[in-house]
Amino acid sequence: MSSDMSEERMLIDGALVRSSTGATYPSVNPATEETLGVAADAAPADLDRAMAAARRAFDESSWSTDVALRVRCLRQLQQAMTAHADELRAMTIAETGSPLFFTRSAALDEPVASLGWVADLAEGYEWTSDLGTAKPLGMPAHRWVRREPTGVVAAITPWNVPHQINLAKLGPALAAGNTVVLKPAPDTPWCATALGRLIAEETDIPAGVVNIVTSSVADFGAPLATDGRVDQVSFTGSTDTGRKVMAAAAGTVKRVFLELGGKSAFVVLDDADLSAACATAAFMVCTHAGQGCAITTRLVVSRPLFDEAVDLTASTLQGLAAGDPLDPGTVCGPLISERQRSRVESYIRLAREEGGSIVIGGGRPVDKKKGFFVEPTLVVGLKSDSRVVREEIFGPVLVMSAHDGDDDAVRIANDSPYGLSGSVWGERDRAMAVAGRLRTGTVGINGGVWYSPDIPFGGYKQSGLGREMGVAGFEEYLETKSIAEPA
Ligand code: NAD
Repeated sequence: MSSDMSEERMLIDGALVRSSTGATYPSVNPATEETLGVAADAAPADLDRAMAAARRAFDESSWSTDVALRVRCLRQLQQAMTAHADELRAMTIAETGSPLFFTRSAALDEPVASLGWVADLAEGYEWTSDLGTAKPLGMPAHRWVRREPTGVVAAITPWNVPHQINLAKLGPALAAGNTVVLKPAPDTPWCATALGRLIAEETDIPAGVVNIVTSSVADFGAPLATDGRVDQVSFTGSTDTGRKVMAAAAGTVKRVFLELGGKSAFVVLDDADLSAACATAAFMVCTHAGQGCAITTRLVVSRPLFDEAVDLTASTLQGLAAGDPLDPGTVCGPLISERQRSRVESYIRLAREEGGSIVIGGGRPVDKKKGFFVEPTLVVGLKSDSRVVREEIFGPVLVMSAHDGDDDAVRIANDSPYGLSGSVWGERDRAMAVAGRLRTGTVGINGGVWYSPDIPFGGYKQSGLGREMGVAGFEEYLETKSIAEPA
């Protein structure tokens, strides 16, 4: 891969190609507002060719049955991404505004390492279980259960942590034997097309197995949910779009896997280490400017500790001012776009209209003349039914409220249409008991980190369907076939 980050080509049917119309659109650095270069603006015919190629590669090549080939290819991809880590890191920071520190974990390095984990899983996986002989309906039979790939997987992804989400879909889907059409978010085409270039140039992944199609149009990928050549849609994005994808997929009864929004609670019990808890809550909401679905954005603190917690949280937020993502000390970078900044600012205005008080932040950093930055913001005094408490903001905005004991804390935490993640701080057994009552897919206790390739991640309620990563995330991409013969 050249050190030039600009990539105008997509990967379709094994070839790096431009849009069939020649159209391109700009990729913009959210920290500087500069145009970095252009990406392919695909035509519907390009998407059609990608689906046809994925279908043919699944139906007519040995990819779906050759586990050793798949394992080798995934390891090649991991090696290629590792060898090009410096260029990928620079491009990722420029395109997504992700802080440098974050690319050393969930935004780049850990997703790349996860390819090795899923290759190992596929290599040692029990693809066929022998259930032995029984006498079903009085007739002796020998039975097996086989796991087979689902077929053609459409992966539709958002812009916030593109490598994490692209690879959390691509890795297990490929390891399971599927072929893939990846449609990244319009804001982050290069994180996907760089992957396409590495696949084409540095792996033995056969033509058509991975297809990557970029577009400036938000719902360009809608045909992936309706087309009969696609067997499964793996979608990450907002709950509103997830609903549309699910409804569109109903016509062909295809499998739908959804990772959606969140409004997760950070619960502080009355015996918690308050300063550590508040510092962590502030750090979490500032990370990548709050653009993470699993970030805890509701801080729910025991009432007697509330005022002290407000001061402690505000003081950490003060020290985490939005900054240049290239600076190793930056935690809070820019938002992805002007559109997203306007959305976050409209929620900050709404917080005031709904009767809330802004303790700290609420505006744009005065030292930033360019870039889509917003100050880390702490809001108190909102009613539990206010929109700012209930809706996902996807920015560095933390809403604080008080609880009156463990039962009340659980009630408040669960009073949400979402159920993605959570955090509980307090004496270990009490915290564990509260964690057990939260209706969410992941919970950290006293700062415990659950993020890892072997940990399933996903949502309860309107935060999604199914699990990504871990064995469960791999098995999302498998069908189950039972076979019997007379014994
Ligand atoms: P979005 O829902 O607007 O878009 C997500 C993807 O869907 C993009 O690729 C977009 O182009 C595509 N899309 C839009 N309309 C479509 C349609 N009708 N049919 C098919 N595809 C369509 O989300 P976003 O603004 O890109 O990302 C932010 C959202 O993603 C937040 O709500 C966040 O919580 C969520 N998210 C969830 C997770 C998770 O794992 N649960 C992870 C990251 C982000």
